[in-house]
Amino acid sequence: MKVYSVKAVWRTLQGEGAWAGRPAVFVRLTGCNMWSGYEADRVRDAEGNDASCPLWCDTDFTKEGAQKLTASELADEMLAVAGEIRFCVLTGGEPFLQADGPLIEALHHAGFFVATETNGTIALAETFGDKPPDWVVCSPKLAADQVVLEAMDELKLVVPDYQPKEFRSLIGRTRTNLIGGSETKFLWLQPEDGPRLAEATRMAIDLAQSNPEWRVSVQTHKVLDIP
Ligand code: SF4
Repeated sequence: MKVYSVKAVWRTLQGEGAWAGRPAVFVRLTGCNMWSGYEADRVRDAEGNDASCPLWCDTDFTKEGAQKLTASELADEMLAVAGEIRFCVLTGGEPFLQADGPLIEALHHAGFFVATETNGTIALAETFGDKPPDWVVCSPKLAADQVVLEAMDELKLVVPDYQPKEFRSLIGRTRTNLIGGSETKFLWLQPEDGPRLAEATRMAIDLAQSNPEWRVSVQTHKVLDIP
């Protein structure tokens, strides 16, 4: 039976995007196709993958301390921390390296609405077959012509390294929502956290003001100081 390498399962709030503030169970799956996750490999992997995110990624998705769980064991572990919460977020690393249709099926069976966050380098159909997650956030880390994700509910660019003018072609793959009677897409400019935060925040605000279909994303979990 397939097992998934799970770095962490925890109850929190979704910090970003359309569901910001919503109580959630997060699942971090190990591994990423942009970076090994180890400090010594940051420059090598950034150059090798032609991606800047390994230089500043602050997520620990390495295999150390991870559990190997079947889909139903993972669902049980999520339910054990969930209380009444039935909204979950599969994240990584790059969760599409491990997640698949049977995992989505098990989480649906447990009653969860399943949101995911991906870098867009792996197709939905290839990953999930006919059992896709309910909500997909794409934060591209390679050039737009290397994003193979067929469709997304939110498009999030981490500025300054990822700029709206370079990713316009992905707006057409972003689903439209009817909000207050107007058709809206969730297009976010996320200031890069870390030493460049002040500069990145200024840039995100300026970019949104000159490209008003984009909004500035605030990492509310960091404001609230929760994991
Ligand atoms: S794709 Fe995401 S998880 Fe992977 S190295 Fe880049 S920022 Fe980190």
